[in-house]
Amino acid sequence: MTLYRGTVLDTPDDPFTGGRLRAESDAGLVVRDGTITARGPYAVVRADHPDEEVVDLRAGVLLPGFVDTHVHLPQVRVIGALGMSLLEWLKHCALPEEVRLADPAYAGGVVTDFLAGLIDAGTTSALVFGSHFAGAVDALFEQAAGLGLRITSGLVLSDRLLPPELLTTPERAYDESARLARRWHDRGRSRYAVTPRFSYSCSDEVLDACGAVVKDVPDVWVTAHVNENHAEIAQVSGLFDGRSYVETYERHGLVGRRTVLAHNVHPTDGELHVLAAHDASVAHCPSSNAALASGLFPLRRHVEHGVRVALGTDVGAGTGFSLLKEGLQAYFAQQLLLDDGFALTSTHLLHLAASAGADALGLADQVGDLSVGKQLDAVWVRPAGGTPLDVGLRHAASAEDALAKVFALGTPADIAGVWVGGDRIKPAPPSSPRPDN
Ligand SMILES: [Zn+2]
Repeated sequence: MTLYRGTVLDTPDDPFTGGRLRAESDAGLVVRDGTITARGPYAVVRADHPDEEVVDLRAGVLLPGFVDTHVHLPQVRVIGALGMSLLEWLKHCALPEEVRLADPAYAGGVVTDFLAGLIDAGTTSALVFGSHFAGAVDALFEQAAGLGLRITSGLVLSDRLLPPELLTTPERAYDESARLARRWHDRGRSRYAVTPRFSYSCSDEVLDACGAVVKDVPDVWVTAHVNENHAEIAQVSGLFDGRSYVETYERHGLVGRRTVLAHNVHPTDGELHVLAAHDASVAHCPSSNAALASGLFPLRRHVEHGVRVALGTDVGAGTGFSLLKEGLQAYFAQQLLLDDGFALTSTHLLHLAASAGADALGLADQVGDLSVGKQLDAVWVRPAGGTPLDVGLRHAASAEDALAKVFALGTPADIAGVWVGGDRIKPAPPSSPRPDN
C-alpha cells in the first residue's frame, strides 16, 4: 500500500446538474493494488495507516487522469498545419500521412510517438481513432497494453472518396473489424470500437458491415465523426438522399450508449433528440473546431437536450494532446457565443476533461475522479518554481480559482507525475522499453 498526500481536486458530482468541486487541501489517499481504499484529511488517514510509504505531492495539485474521447493515432506527426478547412486538411495533410501507416515499421514508430504524447499530457484513458491498416491497430493495442493505458480503439473504415490505399470493402471491413474486436475487446484495459470514418467516406454497405460487427461482438464501442463542417454536411446529405447525418449511422444500429460521435458542431434539434434518446455521447473538440474554422460548439443545446458531452483533442487537426488546453478552448468557444454560450466554470472544465469522459466511455465505475473504490488514475500538476502557473497557484483565492489557473496556464510541461491503475507512467519508469524509431 502507498499513501499519497496532496491537494486533491475532482468532480464526483456532475457540475452540469449542480455538483460542486471537491477540494481537499491536505488529503491522504491510500492506494492498494491500484485501487483507492481510503481517503480523507491526511492527518486522519495517516493515523489509520502509520506504517505506509508516503508519496508527498503537496506542491501543486492532484487531479484525476484525463480522458480524451477523440484523438487520431495516425496524425501525431502532422499536428500544427494551419490555414485549411476540414476537407482541404484531410486531402493535403492528414490522409497522405495516414497512407504511410501501411508500412508496419513506420506505424510502430507513430504508435510510440502517439502514446508518448498522451502520457506526457496526462491522458490516462482515450478513445482513439485507429488506422485504416489492421497491423497498425494491433501495434497500438500492444504498445498501449505495455504502458498500461486504457485504450478503446478500432480499425478505421472507408470505401469511397479517400485515397485508394485507405479504402476497404464491406466484406473486408467486417472480417478485419470482427477479428480485431475478438482479439482486443475487453482484454486487460483494451476495448474495441467499430470505427466508420465518417458517412462521407462510407457507403451504406460499409455502415451495414459495421452494424453487423456491433451485433456479433458483444458490447463493442462505436465511434465516428458527425456534423463537423457545413461543406461536409451538405455532401453527406447529397450522398444519402437528404437523410440527416445522425440518421446515416442510426439506421445501421450504430447509435447507442456505447457510441461516441466527434464534433456535432452543426446538429439539428431532431438529431440532438435522437442522440439523447439513444443515450449516445458527443466528443467536443474545440481546438480542432477553431483550427479548421468548423464553428462554435452549441454546448447549451446539447445540455438542454440531455446529450452527454466530453472532450477530445482531435489530434492532429487539434493542436496538441493537452486536455487542459481543450478545456480552456471549450471555455473560449462558449464565451464567443455570447448569449448562446454556456457559462463554464473551472469545475465544469475539470468535469469535461475527466469524469465526463469516463462517463462517455463507460469507465465511470473505475476512473474519472479520485473516490474510494476508483483506480488511481491521476495527474500531478506541479509547475516549476517562479513560472506564472506556480505564482498563480500560490496566490489563488480559492480551489476553484487555482483550478482555473491550471486550465488557463497549464501545459504538459507542468505535469510532473501521471499514474494509471496506481503505476506511475510519467516520468517513465526506468525499466520501460522505448523503441528507438
Ligand atoms: Zn477526428
